[in-house]
This record gives sequence, C-alpha cells and structure tokens, in this order.
Amino acid sequence: MYDIKALYEAASVEDAVRLLQEHPEAQIIAGGSDVLVQIREGKRAGVELVSIYGIDAMRGISLDETGAIRIGSLTSFSHIAADPIIREHIPVLGEAVSLVGGPQIRNIGTIGGNTCNGVTSADSASTLFAWDAVIEITGPSGIRRLPIQNFYIKAGKVDLQPAEVQTAIIIPKPAYESYHGNYIKYAMREAMDIANLGCSVNVSLSDDKKTIRDARIAYGVAGPIPMRAATAEAAAKGQAVSAETVNAFAKAVLSDIHPRDSWRAAKAFREHIAVEMAKRALTKSIQLAGGEVCE
Ligand SMILES: Cc1cc2nc3c(=O)[nH]c(=O)nc-3n(C[C@H](O)[C@H](O)[C@H](O)COP(=O)(O)OP(=O)(O)OC[C@H]3O[C@@H](n4cnc5c(N)ncnc54)[C@H](O)[C@@H]3O)c2cc1C
Repeated sequence: MYDIKALYEAASVEDAVRLLQEHPEAQIIAGGSDVLVQIREGKRAGVELVSIYGIDAMRGISLDETGAIRIGSLTSFSHIAADPIIREHIPVLGEAVSLVGGPQIRNIGTIGGNTCNGVTSADSASTLFAWDAVIEITGPSGIRRLPIQNFYIKAGKVDLQPAEVQTAIIIPKPAYESYHGNYIKYAMREAMDIANLGCSVNVSLSDDKKTIRDARIAYGVAGPIPMRAATAEAAAKGQAVSAETVNAFAKAVLSDIHPRDSWRAAKAFREHIAVEMAKRALTKSIQLAGGEVCE
C-alpha cells in the first residue's frame, strides 16, 4: 500500500525548488527505488512527494569547458555504464554502477538518489569519493558546490538544506586525467545484493611506469559513511611500483577504516577482506595504468 498524500511534478530545477519551498514537508522522489520501497513498507505514511524525474536538464553526461565530467543527478546507472565519456575517462564508475541491483534497478535508479540517501553501501559512492567528486546543489540561494567528503554528514544524512536539490556530480579534470581505477564489491551473491564491503582504488604512475605518482582509495561499509583511507594513500605516494609498496598500502588501510559487526559480516572479517581488496584493486589499477607489480 502506497500511502501518498500528494505528488507534485517539477518541470524544471527552479520549479522543484519552488515546490519544495511551498511544501516544506515534501520529500524529493527521483527514480523512487529507495523512496517507494520505504513507503510500501509503511514508513512515511501520508507523505507528500516532489518528483524531479521529469527534469531532463538534470539527466546526461557532458564535458565542460575545463574538461570536467558533469553527470546530471538524474542519470541512471544503465546510462552511466554505457556512456562514451565515462567509458573513455573513468570506466571504473561504469563498472561500479553495473554492480547495482539488477537491470530494472539500474534503469530506474539514479546516481543522485544513490548519493542523497547517505547510505555507506551505495555502489557509486566509494568510486566518487576516490575520484574527488564535487557535488552541485541548487536551492533558494542559487548553486553551491562542495567536495563529496563534505556532503556526507552521518549515516543516512547528507548536506542538503531545505528546498535544495542535488543537480550534478562533477569530476574535475585533474582528478581523472592520467588516473586508472578499479572497484571491487564484496557481497554474498553476484547480483541483487548490498555490499559487505566496497573498495575503489585509482592510481597515476610516472611516465616510465616505475613510480606511483598518486594513489587514492575509498571504501563503502568500512564506516557509517563512505570514506577515504588517507594513511594508505600516503604509504603509496611517490613509492616504487612493487609488491612491497602494494602490501604496505594494503596493510595501512587498517589505520583508517572502522567497519562494524553486523548480520552481514563480522568486523574482523571486513578488516581482513579490506586489506585483500586494497591489494587487488591497487594491483589491477597499476596494470590498467600500464605498470607491472614486480616481486
Ligand atoms: C531490489 C533493489 C536492489 C538494490 N541494489 C542496490 C545495490 O546493489 N547497490 C546500491 O548501491 N543500491 C542498491 N539499491 C538502492 C537504490 O537502487 C539506489 O540507492 C538508487 O540509486 C536510488 O536512486 P533513485 O533515483 O531511485 O532514488 P529515490 O528512491 O527517488 O531517492 C532516494 C533518496 O534520495 C533523495 N533524492 C533523490 N534524488 C535527489 C536529488 N537529485 N536531490 C536531492 N535529493 C534526492 C530522495 O529524497 C530519497 O531520500 C537497490 C534497491 C532495490 C530496490
């Protein structure tokens, strides 16, 4: 049973902001793959909804004049996975979102919804953290942009003020140029399962492929919100491409992550696989960047 009091359909971003101001109790609905499940479960009885799903200006992927990749918040996972800009510059994001749910969920679910729900297991989130994504928000006072790490406040809570809409996710050119990445999702099943742990790594190598210029790593489900592992990143930066560096990087993640015990997995198990995932994802990223990890 869907107990919905009213549904207001926004025709533009400005219209959505106006509707949210006029109906301060209303909740945004995009694809509805989270919202409708919650309503059907009896949560949010009598809810008012502002649908943004018809705002085509919030859908699609483009390169701006600075070379930044702009992903409209309403872009579906299927669209992202097939998009030529994503495939050319950050294929790992397409690979990560191809692991979400099943085909129906990937057709209806949006990257905006996946980040605005504030959930640590969201499959797009760790890769967006690892690529220094910037969140664009439009509200009554105009547009503001903030790093994704500042967008997440606590489990289930992101920095969206009243009547604000997340309009785009931006990957600046310096964050992706010369970087190659890999995402690993560890779940109990291959499909239709939430991650026990997600790990996204990317790396930039020196011209001779012998040195790690920079490495970035982010996890989902290693804490209440997605997170970067700064100690591990520092352990790899400027180091030789070698098994020793990969091992030091992987072990260092334990200084950064704080997984918990849950019915899906024990903390100790999550810590164990976090190290292994870091090792594998860095090794794969190095290979994608044209390097080779020598023993
Ligand atoms: C069967 C099933 C399997 C799933 N499997 C996975 C999985 O494997 N991995 C995974 O990561 N997720 C999974 N999900 C979760 C879900 O599909 C995603 O979280 C999805 O990306 C949400 O997007 P949506 O457009 O449907 O959001 P909605 O349900 O419409 O909204 C989600 C939340 O975000 C807010 N919101 C949405 N868009 C905006 C915006 N632009 N600005 C401000 N607020 C906004 C809404 O108010 C709501 O709070 C699964 C869901 C189902 C039902």
